[in-house]
Amino acid sequence: MIITLKKNAPKHEVEKLIKQFENQGLKVNLITGENYNVFGLVGDTAKVDERRIQANEWVENVQRIAAPYKLANRMFHPEDSIIDVRGIKIGGNEPIVVMAGPCSVEGKTMIENIAQEVKEAGAKMLRGGAYKPRTSPYAFQGMQSEGIKCLVNARNKTSLPIVTELMSADKIDEFVENVDLIQIGARNMQNFDLLKAVGKINKPILLKRGLSATIEEWIMSAEYIMASGNPNVILCERGIRTFEKYTRNTLDVSVIPIIKEKTHLPIVIDPSHATGDWKLVEAMSLAAIAAGADGLIIEVHDQPDCAWSDGAQSLKPEKFARLMKKAKAVANAIGREI
Ligand code: PEP
Ligand code: MN
Repeated sequence: MIITLKKNAPKHEVEKLIKQFENQGLKVNLITGENYNVFGLVGDTAKVDERRIQANEWVENVQRIAAPYKLANRMFHPEDSIIDVRGIKIGGNEPIVVMAGPCSVEGKTMIENIAQEVKEAGAKMLRGGAYKPRTSPYAFQGMQSEGIKCLVNARNKTSLPIVTELMSADKIDEFVENVDLIQIGARNMQNFDLLKAVGKINKPILLKRGLSATIEEWIMSAEYIMASGNPNVILCERGIRTFEKYTRNTLDVSVIPIIKEKTHLPIVIDPSHATGDWKLVEAMSLAAIAAGADGLIIEVHDQPDCAWSDGAQSLKPEKFARLMKKAKAVANAIGREI
């Protein structure tokens, strides 16, 4: 961290600041210039609050050199993290993992049938919302505990591990007992109490990017989970809000190589919520694989026009099967399996 002091900063104020940083366990390198005094802070600056330093009237400028995240940072963990979800490995050079299933679980037979269909097409995990974050309180809120039971039954029938969203920490025991990959949805990306709660368990977490979150805010949310003790975090880009109206959100494909450069965590792409339109899902899936994604999470429904949520972005099983064939070709072209 580099701190530039104002030209006329009195000597005792400079000394006071040096003491303050040294008390925080940092080494202070002082460069005395003709016009400015500059401090170079060396050490663990992750806990330094730059806004507080900025509040000092003798400080001209504060510049962070190291990223504020430590545990997710590739600099301190150069090798890729590979996360194990009930025997399915995600990340590194492992095969690309496709998770598929309906937006919402709508019944025992329904989820069992879709699970069978996506499995036949090559999906390695089953998705399905049981607790649903809906914009309207009048919209279907999910089958909740009953939905979790339906997912468990579908897993028993197909052996596909299940991924589903946890909205509230009071359901954590139910999820630890039943769910293989716990999703934290976009709306809860900065629900810090929830992040801390899932940091205290050791189940893998699928952390979705917030609706308007910067990459650094998103990584800091992963850092919350990791700092609470759970290193098993998979990031999921699901599109961000922009001015564009032709798509539900804007898929940020560039985030894939950025996440790979800045962190060691696996990244999964959700082309369904990113686009909001089934017609765009195949193209965005292929783009994500070409850009280096470690996995995809895709909404599939037998009858999208009757779906209880997100029908417009759900693929019919046969379209999903076609996507999987093309996805294989793209994965092979970049030296990966699927
Ligand atoms: C979902 O996956 O069903 C979901 C609600 O996603 P998001 O949190 O990305 O909107
Ligand atoms: Mn959905």
